[in-house]
Amino acid sequence: MPLAIRGGGHNVAGSALCDGGVVIDFSEMRRVEIDPERKTARVEPGALWGDLDAAAQADGLATPAGIVTHTGVAGLTLGGGFGWLSRQWGLTVDNLLSVQVLLADGSRVRAASDENDDLFWAVRGGGGNFGIVTEFEFQLHALGTTVLAGPLLFKAGQAREVLDFYREFIATAPDELSVYLNLRTAPRFDWVPEHLRGTDVLLLIPFYSGDLDAGEEVLRPLRSFGPPAADVVQRKPYLAHQSMFDAGVPHHWGY
Ligand SMILES: Cc1cc2nc3c(=O)[nH]c(=O)nc-3n(C[C@H](O)[C@H](O)[C@H](O)COP(=O)(O)OP(=O)(O)OC[C@H]3O[C@@H](n4cnc5c(N)ncnc54)[C@H](O)[C@@H]3O)c2cc1C
Repeated sequence: MPLAIRGGGHNVAGSALCDGGVVIDFSEMRRVEIDPERKTARVEPGALWGDLDAAAQADGLATPAGIVTHTGVAGLTLGGGFGWLSRQWGLTVDNLLSVQVLLADGSRVRAASDENDDLFWAVRGGGGNFGIVTEFEFQLHALGTTVLAGPLLFKAGQAREVLDFYREFIATAPDELSVYLNLRTAPRFDWVPEHLRGTDVLLLIPFYSGDLDAGEEVLRPLRSFGPPAADVVQRKPYLAHQSMFDAGVPHHWGY
């Protein structure tokens, strides 16, 4: 019988489901256990990134995650995973310490760099093809709870000169800084000034995870070039930034 495994259900190909078969749905297994001394997290396969982020942030900790809180930890990790913290601490799989895996022959094994290392290599990017992961263990990092982040909005007509400038700027920027670029129609969100909503814009979204005063200096050239039509960069809780873009991709839609 065909078998499919459902983590967060975010995969655009719908590969968490199958026709005429059985779906193993992990959505009620979302426990996250944090070890603040070792800075590690043990995570069940139905957990969403919002679950892990919230538990880790209680101790000021975090690991590179997705940028939408309702993405599944399982599918994102098995596919590699990247987010705001990736320039500083790598892909999500670079921070994976071990997995518990149920294999097709029914056996349960641990895979890590010191045990079943070929399987551990495969699950770090190879997707869900090698077994059912029943637990993920991650390395966490001392991020603190406040970051300097938020969108800079430029009018679409400024895009070429801003992107030329940005290419030079980011070449020497420190690893604590990540920037997402987005050419789009400005959404009708609270943080978008009324006069820009529905117009074509270049969104530059810097995220600085190091010392905040140093971050203000690093970001100064980017925030003054142009200048931007709106600057929503501010010091804010990491958890607030992590959920900032949720509204643009509502949970349970068919992606
Ligand atoms: C709105 C949105 C935002 C996104 N943002 C990011 C981002 O910032 N960074 C990023 O890297 N990716 C991002 N992605 C991509 C996302 O990581 C992938 O779609 C990922 O597959 C989602 O994982 P999931 O557990 O939610 O999905 P699911 O659809 O549940 O699972 C994905 C695949 O993994 C398999 N699988 C799930 N759980 C297990 C398990 N326990 N054992 C074995 N196989 C399993 C499933 O069978 C399926 O094939 C985003 C996707 C969307 C829709």
